[in-house]
Amino acid sequence: MSIPPTTTQPLIFDVLIVGSGLAGLSAALLLGAANKRVAVITKRSTSEGSTAWAQGGIAAVWNKNDSFEAHVDDTLIAGAGLCDLAATRFVVENAPKAIAWLQTMGVPFSQADGELHLAREGGHSARRIVHVTDATGAAVQRTLIDRVLNMPHITLFENHTLVDLITSDKLGLAGRRCLGLYALDDATSQVLTFQASQTILATGGAGKVYLYTTNPDTATGDGIAAAWRAGCRVQNMEFIQFHPTCLFHPHAKSFLISEAVRGEGGCLLLPDGTRFMLRHDPRLELAPRDVVARAIDFEMKKGGFDCVYLDISHQPLTFLQSHFPNIYARCLELGIDISKQPIPVVPAAHYTCGGVLADLRGRTDVTGLYAIGETACSGLHGANRLASNSLVECMVFAQATTQDILQTVTQPMTALPDWDESQVSDADEAVVISHNWDELRRFMWDYVGIVRTNKRLERAAHRIALLQGEIQEFYAHFHVTRDLLELRNLVQVADLIVRSAQSRHESRGLHFSRDYPDLAPVALPTLLMPPVNQAR
Ligand SMILES: Cc1cc2nc3c(=O)[nH]c(=O)nc-3n(C[C@H](O)[C@H](O)[C@H](O)COP(=O)(O)OP(=O)(O)OC[C@H]3O[C@@H](n4cnc5c(N)ncnc54)[C@H](O)[C@@H]3O)c2cc1C
Repeated sequence: MSIPPTTTQPLIFDVLIVGSGLAGLSAALLLGAANKRVAVITKRSTSEGSTAWAQGGIAAVWNKNDSFEAHVDDTLIAGAGLCDLAATRFVVENAPKAIAWLQTMGVPFSQADGELHLAREGGHSARRIVHVTDATGAAVQRTLIDRVLNMPHITLFENHTLVDLITSDKLGLAGRRCLGLYALDDATSQVLTFQASQTILATGGAGKVYLYTTNPDTATGDGIAAAWRAGCRVQNMEFIQFHPTCLFHPHAKSFLISEAVRGEGGCLLLPDGTRFMLRHDPRLELAPRDVVARAIDFEMKKGGFDCVYLDISHQPLTFLQSHFPNIYARCLELGIDISKQPIPVVPAAHYTCGGVLADLRGRTDVTGLYAIGETACSGLHGANRLASNSLVECMVFAQATTQDILQTVTQPMTALPDWDESQVSDADEAVVISHNWDELRRFMWDYVGIVRTNKRLERAAHRIALLQGEIQEFYAHFHVTRDLLELRNLVQVADLIVRSAQSRHESRGLHFSRDYPDLAPVALPTLLMPPVNQAR
């Protein structure tokens, strides 16, 4: 991008927050309460993002029979030797405070005998999951949006997509500081300039890089890609958590079939009715998530099947209707009566454990730029995420980041250049974007999915390089659209995942390589360094 002189006024705030999930809205509310003028920039409606889809709940030590040590230990075990101990302790010890804050915001947590009801989930040694029935995220998201709408210092910019961060070094100024950002306004197709002393990236994960995902459409890794382009290090991108059973149906985008269905005796079957978990693990369908996901992936690839089947039809109709009301109703809507027939399922990308390297205050390598929530790699999840540890991470780091911002002296403003559109025209062939988008997600699924090999990763790297060239050319010559921006970011994230996977010569946590099936004696994170002064 060539940079012309400033011609129009940027939109000036104290803090810019990109993303309106739990991480972004928590930070906005805390900063707004301290009278900071905050812009929340979000690429669709405020309610869209993974937070609203979270079902299970939020992990926190809340019961006298539980302890911080136990929660830390459970997290470390799940993380397969790669969790950062300081970050893990920090999150676990601040989790109860975060839950208490959500209560003061008005989140209607489920109760039992006048106390918070605590559920238990796989990998947790105690009951510590605070929840709102089976739709925790939706209740949290709704409550925080209501609060934000009543907070005078917060301005919401819906349907505005982050294009890129503006940093001092890109303008030829000293140091590497984030000065603001460019965002595409969908309504006008204009790219606006936003300016502030501090910017928080809270853009969520990158599940959409895979053909099958439980994530919403917003999860295109935009914050990770933008931070990388701005000069931030990115860590542990090879660790993508796959949920074993997502409904496979052309009209059912990203619908999860809960693990509780297997817990109640659901059997996994091949299209010919063979119960295949018998040949993979003595715990059968109740083996851990990653083991079941790998077994399904193996059978699908070996047999060339589009999906496998989860059969719970041996349970009576009344049991299914009372235990799985949502799953029963959603499947029936799509013509699948789960009391009579098996459910077609595929594993699906669920959670991005890696991300922008951030410290205990959410600070990244670029001064004035913070990363929190699923976009960040705080060190909490290591090589595998413990269930219900992600929502709590969003809040704990939102609190730590806002404290840091409130203690930081505001920087004088620098004149920022407008977005330069003088050299571009309207795209001639939008099909290039949709084609490349489909191609990327399919080869990432086939070559960089649950089971990896050196050959598959090489194939993926080769295709990514071709796509990057094509997309960069498109980006340089045509007006930006949200689809183009998302594709550009997805390809960047795909590149980071493949490079991280190629550099790990072992199988650990969520990364499984047939060429390196053993665990290395020492657990080390994968840290990718951005090239200096990369071209836009
Ligand atoms: C189906 C499902 C169930 C889950 N269940 C649980 C659970 O029970 N417990 C748990 O702890 N975790 C759970 N998770 C994980 C958890 O929901 C997420 O990790 C968490 O909500 C992430 O919050 P976030 O604020 O970081 O991102 P999100 O909630 O995803 O929000 C990201 C925001 O950024 C915006 N955005 C993205 N890119 C841009 C851009 N370029 N410009 C502007 N805005 C942008 C999006 O529109 C969105 O508003 C679940 C996830 C899924 C998908």
